Amino acid sequence: MKIISRSQWGARPWNGTPNHVSLSSRTEFFIHYDGATPITRTGSSVPQAIDRQHQNQGWAGIGYNFVVDQDGTIYEGRGWNLQGAHCPNHNVSGIGVQIAIGGDQEPSAKALASARALYDEACQKTGRTLAKKGHRDGIATACPGPRLYAWVKAGMPAGDYDEPSSPAPAPAPAPSWDGKSFPGASAFKLGQSHPAVTVLGQRLVAHGYGRFYKEGPGPRFTEADKDAVQAFQKAQGWTGSDADGYPGAETWKRLIAAPKAKPAPKPSTIVALNSAVKPGARHAQVKELQQLLVKAGYGPIPGAYSTYYGTETQKAVARFHNKNPHLRAAGKSYDPAIGKQGFIELQKEAGRK
Ligand SMILES: [Zn+2]
Repeated sequence: MKIISRSQWGARPWNGTPNHVSLSSRTEFFIHYDGATPITRTGSSVPQAIDRQHQNQGWAGIGYNFVVDQDGTIYEGRGWNLQGAHCPNHNVSGIGVQIAIGGDQEPSAKALASARALYDEACQKTGRTLAKKGHRDGIATACPGPRLYAWVKAGMPAGDYDEPSSPAPAPAPAPSWDGKSFPGASAFKLGQSHPAVTVLGQRLVAHGYGRFYKEGPGPRFTEADKDAVQAFQKAQGWTGSDADGYPGAETWKRLIAAPKAKPAPKPSTIVALNSAVKPGARHAQVKELQQLLVKAGYGPIPGAYSTYYGTETQKAVARFHNKNPHLRAAGKSYDPAIGKQGFIELQKEAGRK
């Protein structure tokens, strides 16, 4: 069996040092695919692209132990003795092999034969029969796609593998969902679609978690959804498995509910208006009134800030009343003085700026 070494295919230097794993720790063999998009090329650019992507997401480098392209060429990634980065909780026990296809693209017989040869070699090196697994056996994901998963389930036959003549059972249709109530945890599986995921995303955006989405929310449950859900859950004061990024009934209920309004300023911060604060008067609080008017956007007040309630201050109060006509003194179209309620409202407006 020929394996193209990292130096032969032009791997980047490791960014850090992946842990060493002894062969005796290996008990599983995982098959992966590349994702949703079919891979039409072969050759060194295949592992190079994965290497680049995995380093860009902060990993040491290509996370699979091996990659197999459609010519059946095998490329060394983490190899036999380094810890992989391909399936959480299975990176020590599991050897991860990516077969470079995407979506429901058909794997070539050569690629399958090479992957099987890797499996046989892994069993021989470890002296045991490794469990045959697809990525989705380790975590909720669409990987390795329908065709490769069927191949794994068929026992990873080498050579003249015929797909089961009856098509693999289609995923069960999403049970009818009323569009509102909690659809059940099964609606939220990484990489899988459900109409409730779109609603979930829209509610997260409404609650202020839109920053997690590079594209708008959609029906597929992605890492972005999971991260947004987790941030929301943590904001509820939840920890551990209550903040795992997967919405349960309580998360759903709180998301569907209207976002909590920003709390109004505490009453204690509202200052009472002294009745001596009126046009033509001098009072220490006039200065505060002027500052609030400017802060809330009703300035400018030329000559401010002083203790004198002059015509410029009156004009600013009038601008405030034009915006808040219900706070004018009853029956007056123009009220030069700010009333008690007006002063309270003004403090709120200034506090919101
Ligand atoms: Zn995978």
